Amino acid sequence: MPSKEYYYKDSKKYIAQTTEWVKNNRKKHNSYVVKVYVKDILSGKKKGMDLRLKLLEFIGMKCLRCNYKKNTLALQLDHKKGDGNIDKKRFSSNYSMYRYYLNAPLEAKEVLQTLCANCNTIKRYENKEQNNKYEKNPNIIL
Ligand SMILES: [Zn+2]
Repeated sequence: MPSKEYYYKDSKKYIAQTTEWVKNNRKKHNSYVVKVYVKDILSGKKKGMDLRLKLLEFIGMKCLRCNYKKNTLALQLDHKKGDGNIDKKRFSSNYSMYRYYLNAPLEAKEVLQTLCANCNTIKRYENKEQNNKYEKNPNIIL
């Protein structure tokens, strides 16, 4: 790999050489790109999971309704007023939403609560919250 100095000194030449190399080494190049992207995606997911866990620790590590706390994967950060879908539109990803609420702890406590997946689904149904796929299903047993 050429040094940075080389790149800045003669960037057109460098780009032409790189383009030529990519043309002749398509497979090598593609596998490199895939490796880099997969690594980025995986580390991004880990970062997101870490932030989610931090926010859970702050809001509460157990379900507010049934006290479930056995597995954090089944705990969800629920928007108390059921406006999660609207709120999420403010953010480009869950990651940026977690980051935002970690930096705004008062707002986070006001807006969010921890529910387990079961209680969250039931709450969504009871309150007729947005994107409720069960709403029009007459076979739901309450
Ligand atoms: Zn629960």
